[in-house]
Amino acid sequence: MSANPIEQLEAFDTYLPIDVDDAELERLLEKAELPALLAALARLTGDVGLVPASLKPPHTRKSFIPMPQGGLDEDQQREARRLAFEAIKRYRDSDDKRIAEISEDDLKTIVSFMITRDFSEYRDLLHHEVADYDVGAPQWKLADLDPDRPFKVLIIGGGIGGIANAYRLKQAGVEHVILEKNPEVGGTWWENTYPGCRLDTSNYAYSFSFAQKTDWPQKFSRQPEIQDYVMKVADETGVRDRIIFNTVVKSVIYDEEAGEWEVVAITNGETVVHRANVVISATGQLNAPKYPNIKGRESFAGASMHSGKWNHDVSLKGKRVAIVGTGASAYQIAPAIADEVGTLEVFQRSAPWLFPTADYLDDISPELMWLFRHIPGYARWYRFWQFWLATEGRMPTVTADEGWSTEGSIGAINEAFRQELEGEFRRQLADRPDLVEKVIPTYPAGAKRLLRDNGQWSRTLRKPNVSLVTDGIDRIVPEGIVTEDGVLHEVDVIAYATGFRADEFLADIEVRGRDGVELHEYWDSDPRAYVTMTVPKFPNFFICGGPNSAVAANGSAIFIIECSIEYIMECIRTLVVNDLKDMEPTEAALDSFVSRIDAANRARAWGAEGVMSWYKNSTGRVSAVWPFELLEFWNMTRGPVESDYRFTPVDALTSQAAE
Ligand code: NAP
Repeated sequence: MSANPIEQLEAFDTYLPIDVDDAELERLLEKAELPALLAALARLTGDVGLVPASLKPPHTRKSFIPMPQGGLDEDQQREARRLAFEAIKRYRDSDDKRIAEISEDDLKTIVSFMITRDFSEYRDLLHHEVADYDVGAPQWKLADLDPDRPFKVLIIGGGIGGIANAYRLKQAGVEHVILEKNPEVGGTWWENTYPGCRLDTSNYAYSFSFAQKTDWPQKFSRQPEIQDYVMKVADETGVRDRIIFNTVVKSVIYDEEAGEWEVVAITNGETVVHRANVVISATGQLNAPKYPNIKGRESFAGASMHSGKWNHDVSLKGKRVAIVGTGASAYQIAPAIADEVGTLEVFQRSAPWLFPTADYLDDISPELMWLFRHIPGYARWYRFWQFWLATEGRMPTVTADEGWSTEGSIGAINEAFRQELEGEFRRQLADRPDLVEKVIPTYPAGAKRLLRDNGQWSRTLRKPNVSLVTDGIDRIVPEGIVTEDGVLHEVDVIAYATGFRADEFLADIEVRGRDGVELHEYWDSDPRAYVTMTVPKFPNFFICGGPNSAVAANGSAIFIIECSIEYIMECIRTLVVNDLKDMEPTEAALDSFVSRIDAANRARAWGAEGVMSWYKNSTGRVSAVWPFELLEFWNMTRGPVESDYRFTPVDALTSQAAE
């Protein structure tokens, strides 16, 4: 169903008829995720009796790790299943399969059943996430606003951000092109093919709101599954037709008089110049590999590769392999290759915190998949449930208490969180005190990315052919790695899982704005953008996924990207409707935004003194991460605040010249 006249993608989440008998339905419900199911059924049927206060997920945590079934006890689960069974039966046996019309009060009852916050704050965000039509679609067409205005947008990057941006522009009838350096779409999902690569945010949340799926095979799918999805979206939206592949952007330079950006790119070895009124950078934050600055690295005689540029031609079978790093990439690679290699040495500089997730590697059960595919709206409500549990629900665990002085934590809740995570390490490695001491991080939980774990890390580290090396690396020699204690670790292959140049937004691209100012020089190693997207002196230049837009407590990057795009579309509409040549934020707006961001980041675990990660840049400031709840990002991106921008009318320079 469409609520606006704008073209929409045919739904990916079409539902199949409910064709099972009562006994089978009862069996299927044994595997249901109940809170989201009750909410979905209440919304489908309009019966708010399906979300009674007695079955509200408690959310009062005995534990920081999300509780199965939202913490409902056995009796509550039994009652929830009974209610769901009766509701599905009634729906199955009725001739009327329409989604019920419901009042605002009833919607409030349903949403309030799932969350602990004020419904009115979350209403629109929820609508965006679970409505059965494309709520995020622009509500305008360029031809209706100004049919005579020539307007072209150029997007750098054909990953998740570029594709979603292009689709929104297509819906609004705005001419656009994507320049993509690779021969295929997907961005980070195209480039990261290392063994074990998969999501650590639930797919149901990490997917486009306008292309939701009911049949993700896993809750945290593998890289090929996500890459296929992105390619399918590019095909079905028609966005692929607007992509110029194998194209490396070299420079982006603003022509003030024309109000156009000149973009110089190299396509298949040939230099091509493009022009556009608006440039959107969707290059991502985590795609320029960062090799460690270790003495002698180039002298290594064996094979070496970075996690983000895995060389599948190098056989690891029976080889002596080293992995440098223990971040999210290394954490996935080591368990995936441990059984194949001869020996595996994992070089750890600082240990990662692991977030217990029992079902991290599990397939979605056939029963739950059946329910997702047959109960209209269930997968969408499950998406919202995942969103809630993974983000807003988790922020208190990474927040500082003023005056807190216990080492290794930043506040009482964070300390309790630490104790729980530490307890899990101690439980899993009770018989290996040597390993326990090595794997427990010294910094606060949440200060670096938490890695989802079902026990695979300790299972891998205790394998007889695997060792965790915690002595610092001194140098690399042709035979292998020499640690600071003088020991030579002879290896055949080195895998650098050492992360990305995350603080270098638009790395390797020269960007010159007004008065010839260069973006990286303007930033001076400290990237800052108003509302994470716009920069003074760089008119009509938007960074989708820019400084301070990454989510650290495991929200969905796609949510941030979609919100950003909706903001950019509103900026484009503002330019056209008001006959403006360009817009750029004021310095004052940027300064005040950044001060607020900095103060908030200082109060989060990742802002703690002494902790370094890709969240911080070389000046020590957190320039990667969004410090607030996702609701705040949503609210901020509903459209530009006019007083924070400087606008130039289309004819400003022309009339000045005439005077
Ligand atoms: P990362 O988190 O930056 O980790 C880099 C690792 O290399 C760290 O353990 C770091 O140690 C170590 N390291 C860096 N330089 C070193 C040196 N000179 N000597 C020894 N060790 C060194 O990089 P990543 O693992 O590639 O992950 C980056 C981000 O990508 C993640 O945080 C996440 O957002 C994303 N990602 C997501 C997934 C997923 O599951 N969906 C998977 C992979 C990556 P220190 O900690 O001591 O600096």
